[in-house]
Parts: sequence; C-alpha cells; structure tokens
Amino acid sequence: MTKAIYPGSFDPVTFGHLDIIERASKVVDHLIVGVLNNSAKHPLFSVEERVVMLQEVTSHLPNVEIQSFGGLLVDFAKQCDASVIVRGLRAITDFEYELQMSQTNRKIAPDIDTIFLTTNLKYAYLSSSIVKEVAMYDGAIDEFVPAAMIPYIREKMKEKVKKY
Ligand code: ADP
Repeated sequence: MTKAIYPGSFDPVTFGHLDIIERASKVVDHLIVGVLNNSAKHPLFSVEERVVMLQEVTSHLPNVEIQSFGGLLVDFAKQCDASVIVRGLRAITDFEYELQMSQTNRKIAPDIDTIFLTTNLKYAYLSSSIVKEVAMYDGAIDEFVPAAMIPYIREKMKEKVKKY
C-alpha cells in the first residue's frame, strides 16, 4: 500500500491545494495532508482551524486524512509510515526551492521520495497569500477557495480588523 504525505501551510486551503489533493488521492492508496504547525510563520489560522477547514473540503475523499505536524517532514513521514511526499509545482519560482527541499529530504531519509504534480493551469497563479491579500480588502474570493471556506475567512478578517 502506498502512503503519501502532502505537506503545507494551507493558510487557508485554496482550489489549487484541493486540486493537488484530489489528483494525488487517485495515484496513491492513502494520502495524509500534513498541516505544518510553525508559529514562526505567523499563520492567519491556527493549526487546529486549518485542520478543520481541510477536513471539511476533503470529506468526499475517503482515502484522505488530515493531520497536523511540527518538526522535520521526513520524521513525520516515518511516523506515518509514508514513503512518498507530494508537492505541487506552480512555476519556475517554486522549482528551485522544491528541488532543494526534495534533495535535502532524500539525503536525510533515502527511503522517502518526493513526487511533484504540476498545477492545473486554472490555478497556476493561486496562492494562500493572494487569497489573504484580496480578502483583507473585502474582495471576491469565490474563484480562489471552496465556498465553505468563505465564512471562515471573512470571520477571521473581521477579527483582524477589530484588533487594530
Ligand atoms: P508552503 O508553506 O509549504 O509553501 P502551501 O500551503 O503554500 O505551503 O503549499 C503547499 C503545497 O501546495 C506546495 O507544494 C505548493 O507548491 C502547492 N501549491 C500551492 N498552491 C498551489 C496551486 N495553485 N497549484 C498547485 N500547487 C499549489
């Protein structure tokens, strides 16, 4: 059985992420979406919120599971007994960082390999940062994130505005 990890921040999950999750879930037996718990990145959503949001948008995919993790990705992969890491590639700009990360991971864990899925052209421009930027100014985000995510994002933006 091939188990894979798709790691990321997912702050928040976008159609680009969901597309990678749906496609990866067809090529592996079991896919664990690993939500990175990294406070140094100052995420908009807590790791618990990101896990719940991902669970909601992947509930139609029976072989997909959502878990949070901290520390080294390869250690998390080993804990989960996963032999594959899945990453998405949008553009050349992603490539250099992704190549470096995958080679580092292979150096420290030679049994774990990284596979890349190239973005669906429809979502090549899309990132969580873009969604946050547009939502911050109350712009339309329905082309960027699943409909069920919109209330979470709007609520978070309201909280943020109240704070300042
Ligand atoms: P990170 O903080 O690791 O960059 P992200 O949540 O931004 O995490 O992304 C997780 C993974 O999803 C990365 O492999 C990234 O390249 C991929 N990804 C993000 N947005 C898209 C998109 N629009 N199309 C394809 N892959 C994407």
